[in-house]
Amino acid sequence: MPSKTACAAIGIDLGGTNLRGAVVESGKLLGEPVYVETPDRPEKIVDALVKLIEDLLVEAQAAGMKRDSICGVGIATAGVVKCDTGEVIGSTGNLPGWAGTKIREVIEDRVGLCVHVENDANAAAYGEARIDELKDLHCIVVVTLGTGIGGGIVIDGKLLHGRGWAAGEIGHMSIALDDSRLCTCGLYNCWEAYGSGRGLLTTAREFIAGQKDNYLQSSLSKEEELTTYMLFQEAKAGDRLACSIVRRWHEHLTIGIVNLTHILNPDCFVITGGLSQACDLELLKRLTVEKALHNIGETVEIRASRLETNAGLIGAAQSVIDEVRVGVPARS
Ligand SMILES: [Zn+2]
Repeated sequence: MPSKTACAAIGIDLGGTNLRGAVVESGKLLGEPVYVETPDRPEKIVDALVKLIEDLLVEAQAAGMKRDSICGVGIATAGVVKCDTGEVIGSTGNLPGWAGTKIREVIEDRVGLCVHVENDANAAAYGEARIDELKDLHCIVVVTLGTGIGGGIVIDGKLLHGRGWAAGEIGHMSIALDDSRLCTCGLYNCWEAYGSGRGLLTTAREFIAGQKDNYLQSSLSKEEELTTYMLFQEAKAGDRLACSIVRRWHEHLTIGIVNLTHILNPDCFVITGGLSQACDLELLKRLTVEKALHNIGETVEIRASRLETNAGLIGAAQSVIDEVRVGVPARS
């Protein structure tokens, strides 16, 4: 086993489309990430993971790194992960048949390194929360805005996993009573059904349908062609309706931020994901102060991601580094 002072690890982000891997040292990637297409069957995914790890070890050695300075492998995967055993216990649509795979066990046996497996949104949250500026804070909530809303909660440097390893599913908190918006999870009125890219487009269609005089460009009036990019561009150009839609999206985002603020009283939120660039963080902060209890909204910081697309990979690697430092519990 590598020494506890080893401070580099391999990080892998396992998505439905790609496996991305890199050697991570002191929170930074050594070189560009290596991409491999995600195979369609669980046993082939395991083979691809092993091959990727072996390739990255060779690459690290070629770059002058000693093999024993790499203390382990962190793997971020979609699905609910039982982190103490490294087993995927909840399925994910993007990786059919993946639930039930004992990733830690099979990978440790084949590569001879410590392995830590983490849910991908949690791994990204851990990566963001471990950067130097934030690592000593009490509570950090990472919100990933994309097609859906993902997230993770880090308290005193540790991820909040919950009894069934499913904590941090912030996108599925309910923000309304009526059954007006169906979420992809099968429940109604989840925060994700309003604040995600998909939710924003639903809001846009409702706004456009309510217009008597359609003064928008024809592209915006055809709902099948509507994209979030188009909406943000129109809003930037000053289109009144597009501005109202984007403003309402921020109001929807504020509801979730305010709820989390009241429950956790966090030091800060980190906003990341594909839509985060379009999010006006100053507006979000102003609305949060307006809607939250006095003296709670004022103190919370809302900031942009530092790691962006590499957060999951860095967070996964950092989790195995930190685990090796405190001593990894034996596999049960
Ligand atoms: Zn939901």
